[in-house]
Formats: sequence, structure tokens, C-alpha cells
Amino acid sequence: MEQTLVLLKPSCVERGLIGEVIKRIEQRGIIISALKMMQLDEKILREHYAHLVDKPFFPSLAASMMASPVIAMVLKGVKIVEVFRKMTGVTNGRKAEPGTLRGDFCMSGQANIIHASDSVENAKIEIERFFKPEEIFDYNPCTLPFLYGDGEA
Ligand code: UDP
Ligand code: MG
Repeated sequence: MEQTLVLLKPSCVERGLIGEVIKRIEQRGIIISALKMMQLDEKILREHYAHLVDKPFFPSLAASMMASPVIAMVLKGVKIVEVFRKMTGVTNGRKAEPGTLRGDFCMSGQANIIHASDSVENAKIEIERFFKPEEIFDYNPCTLPFLYGDGEA
């Protein structure tokens, strides 16, 4: 099954929304294969946001991502990259659809509570950036036959 990399940003951690977000991940039937708290630094953020380092807002973005520890997760599911980007909602929380995580829990284009990989290719790179292989547990829960139909997963 496919995997994706998710970060619960300081805007999620500081506001006490970790549980709310994880609850929605679990109730959707998404499998959590790895989960840890970590403090990001400038080096990892320059890699992670390489497409944004030259933007004028990068210093404030980096500061906002270092304001507290983050929760990093590897999520697993069929077509999880696409499914979870949809659950995340568009970048600006004010434009994100109600029902999405950003659309329900934030009002900001920067403090938008969550990061999710945007392609299968980037998910692979990002998972390697944030996790050692031994930190990822590729188990299937006993509910798997009830999460997907026969031959689907
Ligand atoms: N961001 C920002 N200002 C902008 C665009 C993006 O501060 O004008 C931040 C925001 O926190 C966003 C992150 O940079 O989540 C990464 O931007 P990207 O375009 O990759 O959006 P995402 O994939 O997170 O929706
Ligand atoms: Mg992105």
C-alpha cells in the first residue's frame, strides 16, 4: 500500500489539536505506520521547503515551523497521497473547504496546521528525510478486511 508523510505543524501542536487530527485519521480508516515528536531546524526546513527558500515569506515560514516541536507521521492506505491531500484541503485555510482539516481548524495561509506530501515521488523522499527505516512499522491492523473490500487493498 502507498505511504505519505504528514507533519502536524506548531500551529496544530500549540493549539491542542493533535488529538482532533489523529482522531480523523483513525476514523477514516487510515493506518498510522510511524509517529514521533521532533524539533525541526533550519537545515531540514531548507530541504523540505526547497521550492520556497527564495520566497520572501520563507524566513517567517521557517520560524513558524520551529516555534514548537512537530508531530511527524507516516500514513498508509490505498491511494493515500491523493486521499490525504484532499483531506488536508488547499494551502490557505481561509479558502479550504469545510470538512477538510485546514477548512475546519485554521484561518491562515501559513499557520495551516498540517503538511502532507503532494505526490507519490515526494512522499518517498519526505519519508526518508524524516524517518529512519526502523522507525516505520509496516503492520496491518486486524480491521483491514473491514477497511477495504476484497482485492482492493
Ligand atoms: N506558505 C506561506 N505563504 C505562502 C504559501 C505557502 O507561508 O504564500 C507556507 C504554508 O505554511 C504552506 C507551506 O508554506 O503550507 C508550503 O507551501 P506549499 O505551496 O507547498 O503548500 P502546501 O503543500 O502545504 O499546501
Ligand atoms: Mg507542499
